[in-house]
Amino acid sequence: MARSVLVTGGNRGIGLAIARELAATGDAVAVTHRSGEPPEGLFGVRCDVTSQADVDAAFDKAEAEHGPVEVVIANAGITKDTLLAMMKEETFTDVIDTNLTGAYRVAKRAVRPMLRLKRGRIILISSVVGLLGSAGQANYAASKAGLVGFGRSLARELASRNITVNIIAPGFVESDMTAALTEEQQQLIRKQIPLGRQAHAAEIARVVRFVASDDASYITGAVIPVDGGLGMGH
Ligand code: NDP
Repeated sequence: MARSVLVTGGNRGIGLAIARELAATGDAVAVTHRSGEPPEGLFGVRCDVTSQADVDAAFDKAEAEHGPVEVVIANAGITKDTLLAMMKEETFTDVIDTNLTGAYRVAKRAVRPMLRLKRGRIILISSVVGLLGSAGQANYAASKAGLVGFGRSLARELASRNITVNIIAPGFVESDMTAALTEEQQQLIRKQIPLGRQAHAAEIARVVRFVASDDASYITGAVIPVDGGLGMGH
């Protein structure tokens, strides 16, 4: 039977690529979308990850359609870049609330059915920036580093029930998020990447597909870089 999968922020960018990759390999995929319409051909549920009620309702709908969620990808994320000296407290806490507390809300709802099933995959989309730091992104980097400690703690809590928890750390990926950077900023980043280019979202999605698969049964608590070498050594 097809596995029930839920991807947050699956209406565009990396989340959509992950959803399409898993759907193409036979999973029954639900994507959450905060705004707009669900993507063509995928089961969409509206959800803002800053609301536990929204997250719970999204899981309820996904489960009614596809059964208990076995694979969850906490992908929804935002940036609100500015230097610390200019950063208002809400600019800091908004990013934490979506990227880190959002993942907490998703994992919290995901875990009970997985405990009953005695299997599951929780995959958190972090960033190379969480490990390297990034000037102008203290809020974002803190949220992404937080996912590492959060995910590794869950990995320890859930391992005995055959639930793995892994953290994917993409580098610089073609998406709306990076399109917002100036050409100059993009060039500067590309210079630091040994592979010399941005990733396609599909290159992140294929790694997620592997981590979600039975072939990754002995991987948990890992931080898996998919960054063209940008974060080597971290
Ligand atoms: P995009 O900006 O293209 O997409 C972000 C997605 O998150 C959208 O689907 C958006 O929904 C959703 N989202 C944002 N806030 C919320 C919220 N409060 N509730 C629900 N959904 C929300 O980003 P990417 O695809 O580039 O990024 C996806 C993930 O990958 C993020 O966690 C990002 O930090 C991470 N990442 C990205 C990298 C990159 O270079 N692009 C590098 C490393 C990590 P909506 O359409 O409604 O706004």
